[in-house]
Amino acid sequence: MADPCIFCRIARGEVPAQMIASNKEIAAFRDLNPQAPVHILIIPKNHIGSLDDTGDSYLLGQMVSLAAAIARQEKISKTGYRTVINTGKDGGQSVDHLHLHLLGGRPMTWPPG
Ligand code: AMP
Repeated sequence: MADPCIFCRIARGEVPAQMIASNKEIAAFRDLNPQAPVHILIIPKNHIGSLDDTGDSYLLGQMVSLAAAIARQEKISKTGYRTVINTGKDGGQSVDHLHLHLLGGRPMTWPPG
């Protein structure tokens, strides 16, 4: 039976995605349904359901650092950007594989919906 986790399948290259960066532990690819001119997802390659399922501060630090590096690469670091991790039902998480959203290229509003 195919792995039901779409982000695990993207990480393994079984499902196509617009890959931005990839190393042994982390992948970054463009969101299929972008909410801003730049909308990139940064994920651990190993399956972690959500932020509530990990205490791996090294991995989390790598994900945030990669987001900042990609923001510079995408030329949104000067104008600014937002990084978001939706967690669980109330957090609005729809894919149960930890992911960090990198959004930029337009002004963001606050508070989020
Ligand atoms: P969240 O609501 O925080 O769980 O975000 C999940 C994100 O994954 C949404 O922004 C979706 O548009 C995005 N997404 C779902 N499936 C894919 C896919 N196959 N490739 C790229 N992005 C996806």
